[in-house]
Amino acid sequence: MSQFYQQEPLTQLRLSQANKLIHQLAKIDRPNNADLLGLLRRFPDPIGGMFAKSTLNQAYQRLLEAKKIKPLTKATLNLFKKKPIRTLSGVAPITVLTKPFPCPGECIFCPSDIRMPKSYLASEPGAQRAERNFFNPYLQTINRLQALVANGHMVEKAELIVLGGTWSFYPKNYQIWFIKECFRALNDFGTEKAKSAVAEIEKNYFKLNQKLEQAGYHSLIKKDPAENQLELADKQIDGQKISQRYNQIVNQVYLEPEKALGIDQIESASWSALEKEQQRNETAKIRCVGLVLETRSDKIDEMEVKRLRRLGATKVQIGVQSLDDEVLRKNKRGHNVAATARAFKLLRLAGFKIHAHWMANLYGSTVAKDKKDYRRLFDDDRFKPDELKIYPTSLIASAELMQYYRRGLWRPYSHRELLAVLEFCLMQTPAYCRLTRVVRDIPSPDIVVGNKKTNFRQIVMDRLQQLDKRMQDIRAREIRNTPFKITQLKFTVLTYTTSVSQEKFLQFLVKTKQGEKLLAFLRLSLPASESFIGELKQAAIIREIHVYGRATALGQREKGKAQHLGLGRKLITQAKNFAHQAGYHRLAVISAVGTRAYYRRQGFTDGVLYQFTDCGKPTKNN
Ligand code: SF4
Repeated sequence: MSQFYQQEPLTQLRLSQANKLIHQLAKIDRPNNADLLGLLRRFPDPIGGMFAKSTLNQAYQRLLEAKKIKPLTKATLNLFKKKPIRTLSGVAPITVLTKPFPCPGECIFCPSDIRMPKSYLASEPGAQRAERNFFNPYLQTINRLQALVANGHMVEKAELIVLGGTWSFYPKNYQIWFIKECFRALNDFGTEKAKSAVAEIEKNYFKLNQKLEQAGYHSLIKKDPAENQLELADKQIDGQKISQRYNQIVNQVYLEPEKALGIDQIESASWSALEKEQQRNETAKIRCVGLVLETRSDKIDEMEVKRLRRLGATKVQIGVQSLDDEVLRKNKRGHNVAATARAFKLLRLAGFKIHAHWMANLYGSTVAKDKKDYRRLFDDDRFKPDELKIYPTSLIASAELMQYYRRGLWRPYSHRELLAVLEFCLMQTPAYCRLTRVVRDIPSPDIVVGNKKTNFRQIVMDRLQQLDKRMQDIRAREIRNTPFKITQLKFTVLTYTTSVSQEKFLQFLVKTKQGEKLLAFLRLSLPASESFIGELKQAAIIREIHVYGRATALGQREKGKAQHLGLGRKLITQAKNFAHQAGYHRLAVISAVGTRAYYRRQGFTDGVLYQFTDCGKPTKNN
């Protein structure tokens, strides 16, 4: 059967997590939707997001068959049998992985699995999905959309998230082709065109793999993912640098034969071909409302920033890992703090949203040092990321760190130590930053020692609740499904400075029983220095607008009408006013391809890489 029709498999890892959720639900006397929602947040789906009701139903049936649970009451069953759970943020995340490829980094904490792009493990659910789809961007995008639709999610607004290795190190033509194919899949989804394209691509890969196997190219890859990691671990013990060995094998197994067979020519596209698909997406049924690329600080320069923008990127994920040069050096990161500061500066001047990764428990760090480092991330004007993933170091057998552990030079934090660091981090995260992840979702069998709990965020949050402490970050304040009254709407602005700009975080808040919640926000950047991008000169920049898709007023919901509150338009009016007052005549927006039409309707006109509107005289919001 074609991959096109496959749903996400209910792996052992997902099943066990779903089982925990169902058992907790069974303990509640007459549970309601809020109870279910709480449990869905507490027990997230290991492949990302929350479990769909259809998956819970499937897991429940298996529990019943195995006689591991008593039948649930009809009322409880109805909670996950009726309507599918919707994508609460209003945006469907489509995560795709690039193919295995050499990485210039030699970070000692980074795992190596020759079936995967550097730093990913073949046992991770998202990585398995990519592998099943031959790391092909078209197949991965279609497959992900199909799975989300099957689970009842709305996919009209899609955020493309491209992960894997160091993006900027892949050949330029491969990058253009990869993004073009993601857009083509969004444009084709649900049509006959998509079905025939999927069949054609799959047929070609099967033929190609046969050729590669016959020629013996794949003999280095073992069927068991653990063996692929151990292969590298053994080499490392022999004294060869593990990252170099990874690069060598990947070259031998994939890149050289691909070249010999002309695949590098097929996985290549021109800028005009990409722009054609981007234009198609402006009016497609499934629009790209955000494109996220992941790279290293030292790969960012002026040219690279412009190229990322031309690909359609709106957000860049960047590995900060530490703001201590000594810790970076000890972990063989290959760049210093100054490189991170420079990358942040260039990305911010170009209006990108900056999604940083920061690590706790690195070799050479301590609980006290980690806390200091985290504070610096938000106190130092050179950084202040918009979004953040906190990744405490996990010990994976195929990482060079294993040697340090064996020699007693490094050890994972105890539960108490990790709790202390994360409690501090969660409380220190400012209101303009969104904490997207707190622990990396690595399947526990892959972790040699140390924390194996992927729900550590919930553990920390429960503790903060006990201590009556309230977090401020965006994710903790999102409205989600919380009922509210529109009369309680409040507009506020947070102002903070960075090394190159004054930033204004405009927000619409509403009072609820669970405290003040965020309905919509806009990131406005007022650059203090001239941009290196010609068309952005003397322009203020909207870096992001987010209106929570499910935000409807309680009154209207009761009448069965979802009121569109026009918060996006109101935020743009306010942004124009602030920009005008600060002396700017033009307001730019770093729009995603699929939001260009929206901004045109708001009075913006197309530039080359951005869209623009005049700030005019300050207007009263209405
Ligand atoms: S830059 Fe470092 S952490 Fe990132 S993929 Fe390469 S080796 Fe791994």
